Amino acid sequence: MILFKKADELQKYLIEIKASGQKTGFVPTMGALHQGHLSLIENSKKLAEITVCSIFVNPTQFNDPKDFEQYPVTIEQDIRLVAQAGCDLLFLPSVQEIYPSGLQKQVHYDLGRLETLLEGKYRPGHFQGVCQVMHRLLDIVNPGILFMGQKDYQQCMVVQQLITLEGRHIRLVTSPTLRETSGLAMSSRNRRLSETAKENATAVYHALQFMKQHLQPGPVKALIDEAGVILHQSGFEKTDYISICHAQTLEPVNEWDGHIPLIALIAAFIENIRLIDNLPLT
Ligand code: AMP
Repeated sequence: MILFKKADELQKYLIEIKASGQKTGFVPTMGALHQGHLSLIENSKKLAEITVCSIFVNPTQFNDPKDFEQYPVTIEQDIRLVAQAGCDLLFLPSVQEIYPSGLQKQVHYDLGRLETLLEGKYRPGHFQGVCQVMHRLLDIVNPGILFMGQKDYQQCMVVQQLITLEGRHIRLVTSPTLRETSGLAMSSRNRRLSETAKENATAVYHALQFMKQHLQPGPVKALIDEAGVILHQSGFEKTDYISICHAQTLEPVNEWDGHIPLIALIAAFIENIRLIDNLPLT
């Protein structure tokens, strides 16, 4: 595995790779890697000849400065894991390297309703920050295929929108959420939970499963209410949202007609850590 810290060096290297006709897969991450991240690398190794992974904790996508300060950093372990997973090129840029002219957002990306729903609503500016960093990373790496996780379902939709808006010829491939055996979705933020909270946090998955198992045509409010009770009883202090939405638009659905594709999404706090998860219901 070759490690790059400078954007222009990586870019130069990739131009030669592409000239030789090899397809590149790109896995952007914020580090504190777990098996979920590694599954994206595995996927890339299956579909592309060269796999590029980046580790960059992007300051512009954190709407809460404390969350940014406390974001786990385990860089030495990450480098080992990425190398073991068979990644070819690792990009480890500094903030200066990604944002040479400063952190301020110069472009506004038109994300339409996506920016007013769910994560868009509860994390103002978050998706603009995601677009800002993805724009820069995609300019540098210019991959044939981009690999992202369905754990961040709305983020996948936002990045697809960015690719379309910018007319990039990049295929987005999304991978299923990897979970602990308990059902808890793997997440870098889980590292900040106590052992007790980690056990209690499985309530998010139980609540999602409850909604899936009890879904019937008609109003869905009772399902959402019961999911709220499950979270509350397990020690979740606050819920940003528990929502049942159209799986392609993320518009909330109050009454299911028995046909449209649905997804349930949750964002909730335990020990002051904000966890998100989702489950397709249909
Ligand atoms: P992050 O480092 O949290 O920005 O995540 C980097 C990529 O890994 C994103 O595309 C995430 O959706 C994906 N990812 C995070 N957690 C998981 C998981 N449990 N299973 C699969 N992919 C994941």
